[in-house]
Formats: sequence, C-alpha cells, structure tokens
Amino acid sequence: MRIRILGSGAGGGFPQWNCNCANCRAVRAGAPGFAPRTQSSLAVSADGANWVLLNASPDLREQIAAAAELAPAEGDPVRASPIKAVALTNGDVDHVAGLLNLREAQPFSVYAAGRVLEALAANPIFTILQTQLVPRIELHMDQTTPIKGDGVDLGLSIRAFPVPGKIALYLEDKNAPNFGTTAGDTLGLEVIETRTGKSFFYIPGCAKIDAPLAERLRNAALVFFDGTLFHENEMIEQGLMGKTGSRMGHINMSGDDGSMAAFGPLNVARKIYVHINNSNPALDSNSQQHAAVRAAGWEIGADGMEVTL
Ligand SMILES: [Zn+2]
Ligand SMILES: [Zn+2]
Repeated sequence: MRIRILGSGAGGGFPQWNCNCANCRAVRAGAPGFAPRTQSSLAVSADGANWVLLNASPDLREQIAAAAELAPAEGDPVRASPIKAVALTNGDVDHVAGLLNLREAQPFSVYAAGRVLEALAANPIFTILQTQLVPRIELHMDQTTPIKGDGVDLGLSIRAFPVPGKIALYLEDKNAPNFGTTAGDTLGLEVIETRTGKSFFYIPGCAKIDAPLAERLRNAALVFFDGTLFHENEMIEQGLMGKTGSRMGHINMSGDDGSMAAFGPLNVARKIYVHINNSNPALDSNSQQHAAVRAAGWEIGADGMEVTL
C-alpha cells in the first residue's frame, strides 16, 4: 500500500495568506529550516494506479499537479482520473472545499459520516458534483466499508470511528454544549489493504486521546496524527486568535496532556504528524520544539512525503 502526503499543513496552509506570524514570515522569505505546506490531505493506493484521497483540501488542484500518479495516464480516455474516491474525516472547510476542484463531470465516490453528508447536501454549491456521477456513501461507525469508485474496487476498505473533536466552525451552535458537536462529527479513519490486511490510521483532527482511542492505536504499524499545535495556547500567545487548541478541537503535541505523552506507551511503530498549523514552532526544523518531537520518536510530515506499508 502506498500513502502520499498531499498536504501536511492545517487550515490556511503554510504560509497562510493573511498571516504575518514569525513562521509565516520565515517561510515566505525562504529561511533555512522552513518548508511551505499545503492543506491537509493524503492519497492512498493499493495498486499504484487507483487512488482514494483522505480529505479534499482547497489546495487540491496544486497537490494533484505535484503528483504524477494523480494525473490521467497515457492511453486513458480524453477525460480520466486515477482518483476514484474521497473519504472525509469531518466537514471542515479545509477538508471538504477541494471537492469543488473535482468537478468537470468525472465519476468518483465520496465517503463520509452521515452528518457531514447532510452538511454537503444542505449546501447547493456541492450539487456541481452530480450524485449520479459522484455517489455519496455513508461511513457507519466501526464498520468496514470497501472503497469503490468509477466501477473500480480499490482493494482498500475504511473503518471509521469517532474521536473527540468539534463540529465544523460554520456549523457551530453557540448556545449548545460543545457548540452542538455530537459523536461522529470528527472521525479517525483506519485504512485497510484487503490483500494483506495491513492498515494505518489517519487522524488529522482530534481534541483528546481518550482510553478507547489509545486502545485502538496500541501496536499500530503507522499513524498520521493531528499536529496542529505544539502548545495549547500558542495561537493566543502569538496574538493570532483568541482560541485554545481544545476550543478548536485539536490536542497539542507537548505537555502531560499532549499527544507525544499519550503515544508514549502505545508502541506505535511509525508516528507522523500532519495537519500542522503555521503557528507551530516545530515547523522550524532548527527549533528545540522540532528536536523534542523527533526525540519522542515522531516524524514531521511534509508535502510529497511517501510511505509504503
Ligand atoms: Zn483541518
Ligand atoms: Zn502564520
């Protein structure tokens, strides 16, 4: 199974268009130790020819252009794509807006939780993806769903499961507990290769590693995990936004309550941070925070990075 990180940044990417923080200034200036990042998405293939995207970011057009595997192959019909399916972890703008890049009457399948499909159905702009060509298929929690699209069986299945998180910002109900979030608004995805039974986890948004999630990840071969923030308060401290990580539905990397500590006892063979926000000091590969992440056995995901499992 091949896995390609299409985008390793969080919402806004790196640099973010309107952000003047120290990291964004450094990456714009081409400073050593900083690499630009597009918004969060993976591409996965069992056969190297047909691909499923995990989330569809607003940067999808340039992500496809940067990956030869995702272009129509020589000998394909005049309209063709190796992208046969997209699976969504939630309804956030940075995870669904890329669906609009996949218009032009190309068949593929969209997999998501029921509430995310409702949010797509409620927004008429997504009718540009006609449902006869682009079926929308519900991921039921803790069931194994075979991934198919455009008449192709990808040889992969997805087991979706709820993780602690927050409803998409544009769907927040200010008067409801946790802004109207219910279980299943944020998913983790376990992608399983049918032929070998090998699997990995993709969890780009997660507010907390609770006991059920820890047990699920124990002894995993590979996890791509929410690397949005290093510190819970870093966006407040940098004057970027008045919200903590947990308010945004993202756990921090560092500290007793962070993901590095939580993964410590879980015996995960390979751990890669993705969905890294531009405020995160670990984005500077010369920083002590970057060194701390590496010392804890983590890799910092980068655009174009490929993993074979
Ligand atoms: Zn996101
Ligand atoms: Zn910034």
